[in-house]
Amino acid sequence: MTQRAGTIAIDGQVASGKTAVGRELARRLGCPFLDTGIMYRAVTWLALQEAVSIDNSDALTQLAQGTPMQLNDLEGRTILLGGRELGPELRTAEVDRHVSPVSTVSGVRRDMVRQQRSIAERSCQDMGGIVMVGRDIGTVVLPDAGLKVFMTASPEVRARRRYDELIAQGMPADYDEVLANALSRDRIDSQRKDSPLAQAPDAFLLDTSDLTIEQVVARILERLGRKADGSAA
Ligand code: C5P
Repeated sequence: MTQRAGTIAIDGQVASGKTAVGRELARRLGCPFLDTGIMYRAVTWLALQEAVSIDNSDALTQLAQGTPMQLNDLEGRTILLGGRELGPELRTAEVDRHVSPVSTVSGVRRDMVRQQRSIAERSCQDMGGIVMVGRDIGTVVLPDAGLKVFMTASPEVRARRRYDELIAQGMPADYDEVLANALSRDRIDSQRKDSPLAQAPDAFLLDTSDLTIEQVVARILERLGRKADGSAA
């Protein structure tokens, strides 16, 4: 694709489809993909490994500050944490249970946002853009993103997607537990004081409940094309 991707910010609830869509969009645009959830998961994983209490904000902040992260591949399935490649170990039920409380810590968020902006800057220089997904990308991390999308889907559709994903990876999963965890994470993410999950006023809202990944990607590409033509705000 010859079009310069620029910065594309995708936010949304747990399993709203943002990761699958963002990854495919980045592939089509020929730019890197960063799922920022992986970075909060990495801090959480490290805290669990090092037996740092999830209630100790200062220790969690120090952990985040002392942990430089880098993109490992364009698809963003893994991340380099101090040179070590991490991927599947960040998606366990244990990390799922603790990641939202860790993400409420302002010191952790400050450092993640700093690292995310620096990754975006480098990707724009080297590859002409980045697709970044998370909860606060359009509102806080990249407020000047070229295109902002906010994704939603019904809780049952989202829980089913996450359940199918875990089963496909051979991980143990219980549908009711997955649904309860998704709702609990959404509640913590939307209600936290620092950079809560929210739709940016200039974001384009997409309900993905009845759409395939391909259909969502097509809608975003169409919106991007219209912006490039100057025919959409
Ligand atoms: O997207 P994923 O489910 O991997 O994100 C895990 C958790 O990381 C979210 O539930 C949220 O608590 C946190 N997160 C965040 N801000 C982001 C990305 C993820 O607070 N930009």
